[in-house]
Amino acid sequence: MSRLSSYLDSGTAHYRSPAPRTYWVEAIVLRVIPYGEKDRILAIYTRQKGKLNAIAKGSRNPLTRLASATQLFTHARYFLAQGRNFEVVTQARIIESFERLRRDVNLMVTCAQCCEMLMKSVPDGEPDEWLFDDLLSALRIANSGVSCEALLAAFTARLLMHLGYMPQFECCVRCGKAVGGTSHFSTEHGGTLCRACADVFGYDAILSNDAIKLMLRAIRYGLYEAAHSGALEKVSLEVSSLLTRFWQHHFQAQLQSLRVREQLCTHGGEIKVICR
Ligand SMILES: [Zn+2]
Repeated sequence: MSRLSSYLDSGTAHYRSPAPRTYWVEAIVLRVIPYGEKDRILAIYTRQKGKLNAIAKGSRNPLTRLASATQLFTHARYFLAQGRNFEVVTQARIIESFERLRRDVNLMVTCAQCCEMLMKSVPDGEPDEWLFDDLLSALRIANSGVSCEALLAAFTARLLMHLGYMPQFECCVRCGKAVGGTSHFSTEHGGTLCRACADVFGYDAILSNDAIKLMLRAIRYGLYEAAHSGALEKVSLEVSSLLTRFWQHHFQAQLQSLRVREQLCTHGGEIKVICR
């Protein structure tokens, strides 16, 4: 036996083909940061490899091919080269540009919050097709025109559910008893409390039955059904506010996109959102 075949046959030897240094991915642009005078640094969520950071050199020049393909929310196929700190975008083919989402301030901040929550909820380099498809659905639904609060409420509910952090509403999270007619919600306890437990431990909000129905509809039937359920705006707002607070509490993270929504509120922007 030759030395090579002996090596390959030995129990401890493992032959691995080297990882390709260039590859195509399908991705959605979650965040864009201008870098220097010409470049952009992107956070992208890829179907194949999860969340990645990539640099798109020269993409701030509007005359380059990469300029339009590296804008926020763009859904595209990207040809990436492995770099030392970031992957490098060398080619891109746009699948959906979602231009409307960047022109309408209400849609933009809503989708930016969806992207930011996903970005801050998942580790780098872990693919999750369910999350990829749900984010893509959210962008498509927003792009077709929909109640921003209902979509944000539904997306947040489904994100929390998929990651295993959805608050409980069926019974008291503290003692297990039926909650009864009034749902006292406790962010700290992760769900609703019965009246007795709410009196002892405190609560953050009283949830309406319609709010609970909207969350359950999002989880059971999907984003489209929840976003088009005809829920009253105040109910959608109740859910999106509550779940955003819950997300921030759980992940111990702040949302830049939420601050923009608050500023729009302060300065009389179109978004009818309470400051939270
Ligand atoms: Zn209880």
